Amino acid sequence: MPKTVVKFGGSNLKCKEDISRVIQVVKNYKQPVVIVVSAFFGVTNYLIESLEKARHDEQVAKKTTNYLFNLKKETLELHIQDSDVRNNILSDISILLDELEKYLHGIYLTGDASPALEDHVLAFGERISAVFLNGILNNEGIDAKVAFPEEIGLITDGEFGDASVDFVKSINKVREALTGELVNVVPGFYGLSSDGKTTLLGRGGSDYSAAAIARCIGASSLDIWKDVNGFLSADPGIVDNPVQIQKLTYDEAAELAYFGAKILHPRTVEPLCDPHIPIRIFNIYGVLNVQEPLTVVSAEKIVTKCIVKSVTYSDDFGILKLKGSGVGAKPGILAKVTTALLMAGINISSVLTSQTSINFLISRKDLSTAYSVVSAIDLPVVGRLQVVENITVIAAVGNGIAENFGIAARIFSSLAKHEINVLMSCSGASLIVSYILVGINDRTQAVKAIHREFFETIPAAGEL
Ligand code: ASP
Ligand code: MG
Repeated sequence: MPKTVVKFGGSNLKCKEDISRVIQVVKNYKQPVVIVVSAFFGVTNYLIESLEKARHDEQVAKKTTNYLFNLKKETLELHIQDSDVRNNILSDISILLDELEKYLHGIYLTGDASPALEDHVLAFGERISAVFLNGILNNEGIDAKVAFPEEIGLITDGEFGDASVDFVKSINKVREALTGELVNVVPGFYGLSSDGKTTLLGRGGSDYSAAAIARCIGASSLDIWKDVNGFLSADPGIVDNPVQIQKLTYDEAAELAYFGAKILHPRTVEPLCDPHIPIRIFNIYGVLNVQEPLTVVSAEKIVTKCIVKSVTYSDDFGILKLKGSGVGAKPGILAKVTTALLMAGINISSVLTSQTSINFLISRKDLSTAYSVVSAIDLPVVGRLQVVENITVIAAVGNGIAENFGIAARIFSSLAKHEINVLMSCSGASLIVSYILVGINDRTQAVKAIHREFFETIPAAGEL
């Protein structure tokens, strides 16, 4: 019988009560599962700071490992009565911390860290979490062992900081390593390059690790435990009583994740859509029954009464605008600009063009580099290059958006009613999403207005 891959994030490992819930969840599966775990809440950010400081401060290596040791020690003291058991777990953690201290000290001695070393250091948050959780599970009588990515053969394309899993190289080994009657606890967030170097799978990448492992072992499902109620029809910080979404397709979930829904790392669906492995999302603060997910992401396509299932937004984008009366007439402009951006390692999220203007939607953090590299290209027809910041991209997502008339009209008129100016829009590029760009100051009103338009009458339970 295929195993289930179960992912716990940093938000599931904040306090004693969290850990009791995690144990209960693992027990409720009533069969061996593969667990993928992130670092404790805040630990990756802490390690990033330590990496920076370690370059010029000799004390940082010791301070970092002391801090991490105490963090685990305090949590273990709350949870495990038997001091021998606690000390055994702490001594396993100490082996990792000694190693981490050596790396941080090495960074101090050389004043520098290569990308390979940075990735190796940042993955310690997950390694320590896995050893910690494994110890706790063993103490509860659950037969578990840690399975490090280096042991199970989770191989990547080798790109430091943002690697992708190489399935051709990984599938057989990972599958073989994770069979058997034990619960395996795998640290998320990293895999190994073909030459054995730690490569991170991008920030927040433990969801993607878990999805990759689920694909390798042909899992029955990937179960992600969060501290919120699955996917919602909008951010509850903006909209009162958003509707909980019970079912999404892989594409719908990916669009929502790319444009702001924090619930899932955007790359999680990638490994799972071809083999049709469902993603089931649970709330650890709710019912711990493993039969009752809040949202299921699968190939099952559902068009709801509202058509739009969720309205999400992201402030992470800006526009690089090329203006000139000849841009629509001259061949090769897009090719030159996209090549320059590629060489600078900048991802283009969308391109919106007219005859007099080309607009590249780019992550805000890359905007100034994008401006510099594009300014340096010889583009005679471009009269003006401009960066547009302070925008929000709003995405209305749902199967049926492109196949039903009036959806775009309703979005626009709901915004017009509130005198919200639409800076740009794009519908039809994908059958399931309409993007609207508005000024950042209009974001909250815009999300509320579109949500109200489609969710005024909440459909009966079961229809979403
Ligand atoms: N701990 C890593 C991060 O904070 C990976 C994850 O949480 O998924 O980015
Ligand atoms: Mg995370």
